[in-house]
Amino acid sequence: MADSNKITKRLTDRSRLSEVDFKNIAFGHVYSDHMFMIDYLDGMWQKQSIEPYDYIKLLPGAAILHYAQTVFEGLKAYRGQNGETLVFRPDMNFKRLNKSAERLCIPNIPEDILMNGMDELLRIDSAWVPDLPGTSLYIRPFIFATEENIGVKPADKYKFILFTCPVGAYYSKPVKVKIETIFSRTVSGGTGFAKAGGNYASSLYPAKLANEDGYDQLIWTDGQTHKFIEEAGTMNLMFVVDNVLITAETGDTVLNGITRDSVITLARDWGMQVEVRQITVEEVISGLEEGKIQEAFGVGTAATVAHIELIGYEGKDYTLPEINDEFFSSRVARELDGIKTGKIADKFGWIHKV
Ligand SMILES: *Cc1c(COP(=O)(O)O)cnc(C)c1O
Repeated sequence: MADSNKITKRLTDRSRLSEVDFKNIAFGHVYSDHMFMIDYLDGMWQKQSIEPYDYIKLLPGAAILHYAQTVFEGLKAYRGQNGETLVFRPDMNFKRLNKSAERLCIPNIPEDILMNGMDELLRIDSAWVPDLPGTSLYIRPFIFATEENIGVKPADKYKFILFTCPVGAYYSKPVKVKIETIFSRTVSGGTGFAKAGGNYASSLYPAKLANEDGYDQLIWTDGQTHKFIEEAGTMNLMFVVDNVLITAETGDTVLNGITRDSVITLARDWGMQVEVRQITVEEVISGLEEGKIQEAFGVGTAATVAHIELIGYEGKDYTLPEINDEFFSSRVARELDGIKTGKIADKFGWIHKV
């Protein structure tokens, strides 16, 4: 086990907690008091520290500012039934962070150091874990190149930071999405499986065009033919047809979502048939035309489940059945919420207690 005594601590004398209106928190706008940091230099991850959340100093020549050598993760902590802090499957996020890092030539960080630092930070900022229904503490670990060098090469200095944000519900109402057939999020051989900063920068423009046409999000198709369904925005995408749960395989263009894995596990546990396979745009459109698609929804840490009410394709909009509480997507969202907050027994060993 990593030794928490190795973490140098400098705590704030002016907590911002009392300024927060926990009933109205916009995603990504409220930051907890402290952050956990580790610096990499001389070929090693060095000093670990917990400091007040504040500006960081970078030189204009820092590599991250030029070529996006950076990876991140997103996970959540919840307030348990006895006031304890519970984190959902953090081991999976730390494994994926290192997998993403490898693709971007960023050095790996031992998982026990990450887990221990996160726990220590969550103990210090435990009052920031909200307890209202639908709220949680979003945890953002990320690594970026700090070396002053504008040559295109892997940097030799990095910084890891983990900070937290109390958050409310992400999408409160069902979303309208458009099947994208011009732009691509990623291509085979690219960085689509990694949570690499650049992937999200390049998705902004097509998403903006879709927003201008009245859609909330995009459904990405494969970069080569645009004939196969991949993901929805920054979520994995699922359909229910004939009571069968259908979702695309993960690979180098479809990110291996932890929510996706959890939903598939629960569906199978409930005896539902699950098909993990290629999904064609054609079958989705004909399914919509024939009214065979019972449910379509995105799954990811930020929203957990985002119900889809409308899918646009080549200028035509198709509406989906109105969502009710008996839908699989509604039930699985409630089940996950119950497990995450300790109301439902954690039979899969998904909960990490701080
Ligand atoms: C983060 C992310 C997801 C969802 O992954 P979770 O582990 O469930 O949060 C899906 N697709 C993309 C592109 C993502 O960045």
